[in-house]
Amino acid sequence: MADNDHQEDAPEVMLGFAEPVDLEEHGPLLAEQFVSKIGGLPLWLNPEHILDAKEVICEQCSKPMTFLLQLYSPEDHPEEAFHRAIYVFCCKTGACHKKSLEGCFKVVRSQLGQYNAYYPPVSEKEDNAEEENKGWVPLESNKRAKTCFVCGLHGPKVCSKCHKFSYCSPEHQALHWTKGLHKQLCGTNPPPSHNMDLDTNLAELSIASHDDQTKTLNKEQQEYANKLDIDSKLIERMFRFPELEIISEPEEFDQEALDEGLAHDSSGDEQEAEEGWEEKAAALKAKKEKRAAALAKKNGTGVSKSLESAEASMNALVPVGDELYENTKTDIDAAFLTFQKRVALYPDQVLRYARMEYDVTPEPLYVSDIGIPKTSEIPPCPDCGQERSFEFQVMPQLLNYLAIDHSASDALDFGTLLVYSCKDNCHVEGKHYQHEVIKVQHFSEDGMEGTNMNIGPTASVSSK
Ligand SMILES: [Zn+2]
Ligand SMILES: [Zn+2]
Ligand SMILES: [Zn+2]
Ligand SMILES: [Zn+2]
Repeated sequence: MADNDHQEDAPEVMLGFAEPVDLEEHGPLLAEQFVSKIGGLPLWLNPEHILDAKEVICEQCSKPMTFLLQLYSPEDHPEEAFHRAIYVFCCKTGACHKKSLEGCFKVVRSQLGQYNAYYPPVSEKEDNAEEENKGWVPLESNKRAKTCFVCGLHGPKVCSKCHKFSYCSPEHQALHWTKGLHKQLCGTNPPPSHNMDLDTNLAELSIASHDDQTKTLNKEQQEYANKLDIDSKLIERMFRFPELEIISEPEEFDQEALDEGLAHDSSGDEQEAEEGWEEKAAALKAKKEKRAAALAKKNGTGVSKSLESAEASMNALVPVGDELYENTKTDIDAAFLTFQKRVALYPDQVLRYARMEYDVTPEPLYVSDIGIPKTSEIPPCPDCGQERSFEFQVMPQLLNYLAIDHSASDALDFGTLLVYSCKDNCHVEGKHYQHEVIKVQHFSEDGMEGTNMNIGPTASVSSK
């Protein structure tokens, strides 16, 4: 390892894994927890200024996109990037993606300084916390922007009849009206009882229906609460991706073992490398099983089945140290082989975060030699003129968690999504969201040799 110069220079990569949100452990995810997550509704770093749907319109169907994921990635410079989040959106309609490579994805960056009206200043030392928080005044709750019930983007339009629900666009208002239960529930109030006064709001009743408080609800109230629940679940399933937390861990790998595992001579070194490989594989398997069990526990067996099948197809694609590799070497593109080998170490990774140091410009893990974005295709930051550099990539394994019907011919599909962002994390006064660049790379037909990595049953995360 030590004599491998190339390896020493390689920056560390943080891997992201999708895990179910542990509601029992910590309740629903909140913006103030500064989490990274997939699906559900976006958690806005800036609750006063929420992204407008106009900023994330699909260039094919002209409808507001669906929230795909967000990454909390704070930076030291400048001060205004003390809190920093990257949001990725995509059109859920696979047919749009077939017509356009990049117009169906959007990525925006949101930043906040340490001293802001939304979160108490965080101090490195606990002793100073009180001192630093002195004089900090939180934003008045009425200054929080309204969010669209359907997509979570800015919702300036309010249902004119009940004034209880906000929407980003007429499309989403119509969706709630026709595909949810709002047509039936709009303007209605929860049935009264001696336990609750008439003003009990919808949210409280909805929460009550999930708690032990169920006993305090009478039959009519229970029915009403159930309807509210069905209403939100219908919209959730139709429009959003299943919500999952992104847990990160550093990628550890031994380039030498990786190379030698593929070498074809039977030297003692190779033997050693293979032993190391087996140990690593066993440790990884245990980790994977734990994840699959956690997912299965929450969602039934569908997800773990989907994981198994994803794993099986990954394994089938990774003939490490196998003769098959030697035989097909000339037919498969080199980037694809490198991709397979790296991913095989952590087959469930859904994200690779590569911007770990300022002075190192990281390289993505391409899925093919074909379709590598040229430097000229990544425009500099329009706000400051600085170049945009590669920050992270979304892996194809994510597709297994999005409850997509992979049997559909126009199902959402990608090899990898590459996100490039302003190297200086520039700040523009009064501008709350800055667009960054996302590039889509697909697997090449040759590289895949007819194997579809995303084959398998649809994850049942949201189909329950
Ligand atoms: Zn579209
Ligand atoms: Zn909306
Ligand atoms: Zn209404
Ligand atoms: Zn910039």
